[in-house]
Amino acid sequence: MRTEKAQHSGLCFGIRRAVSLLTAAVQEYGMVETLGPLVHNRFLVDRLAVSGIRPVTAIEQIEGEVMAITTHGVGPGILSLAKERRLRVLDTTCPIVCDARKAIQDMVASDFDIVIFGEEGHSEVVGLLGWAQNRGRAVLEVRDLKNAGRPAQRLGIIAQTTQSYFSFARFASCLVANFSRQAREIRVVNTLCRETRLRQEEAAQMAGRNELMLVIGDQASANASRLLGICSAVTETRLVETAREVDISWVADKHRIGIVSGTSAPDEVVDEVVTYLESL
Ligand code: SF4
Repeated sequence: MRTEKAQHSGLCFGIRRAVSLLTAAVQEYGMVETLGPLVHNRFLVDRLAVSGIRPVTAIEQIEGEVMAITTHGVGPGILSLAKERRLRVLDTTCPIVCDARKAIQDMVASDFDIVIFGEEGHSEVVGLLGWAQNRGRAVLEVRDLKNAGRPAQRLGIIAQTTQSYFSFARFASCLVANFSRQAREIRVVNTLCRETRLRQEEAAQMAGRNELMLVIGDQASANASRLLGICSAVTETRLVETAREVDISWVADKHRIGIVSGTSAPDEVVDEVVTYLESL
């Protein structure tokens, strides 16, 4: 059996940066509470909790003085609530999400309506919609924009940072075709994360030369699910959180196994899966 580990794997730079900001803050304040889990990865969240970085589901549950915003960012409403409660805010929003937020703010200031290509309930999208000030919609299909109220004169199109490049390109061109008769100006801003794109491209290539692909990531991780979809379209693919979930029957008759990971899977978890496969 030969294993092939993706070059782009383990934690992405946005999550590494957040972990290092949180680690420095917990040393100073003793405890830091994150609004929602830092990442969709139980292993990493549990490890951080041991050092005093614990997730809460709502701002009302915060007991300490420091509230950390996760890499997905938040809308302005949460920042106002934190101010009212006199909390110190540690902002670990990924710089790429900050760029998407800035694009929305600039377009709203120029009288644009905003369409976000993304999952409506995902925390990053919820935050971005907050900055769109009731002028934003989040959809994954152009047809879902029908009955969206008055036709936009100026339309801005951006993407949830972890969406796939091909899907966004298809969505944006379809939207431009649909709205170009009524809108005076349509602006498409590429807010996709480069690191996510590189992982998706590498996963698609690896799926073409491996008999089995293992995607390491949490069921709730949007970008791990995307990798699962990309690889499954090409070859047999399984999503696992850790090496313990690898079923021996999947690998029994395989000679080439590819290993890719979502951006919130820690490097040691990825290496553990590789080591386990190589030990078989
Ligand atoms: S996946 Fe990309 S956008 Fe998300 S935290 Fe990582 S670097 Fe930032």
